[in-house]
Amino acid sequence: MVELKVKCSNCGEEVGTGMEMDEDQFEKALLKGSTAECPSCGEEISWGKGDVINKDEL
Ligand SMILES: [Zn+2]
Repeated sequence: MVELKVKCSNCGEEVGTGMEMDEDQFEKALLKGSTAECPSCGEEISWGKGDVINKDEL
C-alpha cells in the first residue's frame, strides 16, 4: 500500500493525500472531488485520479 501523492497547485511541493492503495485498488477507484491540504503552504488542493504523481510506485 502506497500513499497517493499529488502536486500542490500553489507551491509545487508533493502533498500526501492520506489515501493509501495498491495498483489494483487504484485502477478500480473513482477518484474525483477529493481534497488535500498542502503542509508547506496550507493550500487546499482539489485533486482527481489524473493528478496522482506517484501511480508508478503503487
Ligand atoms: Zn503548497
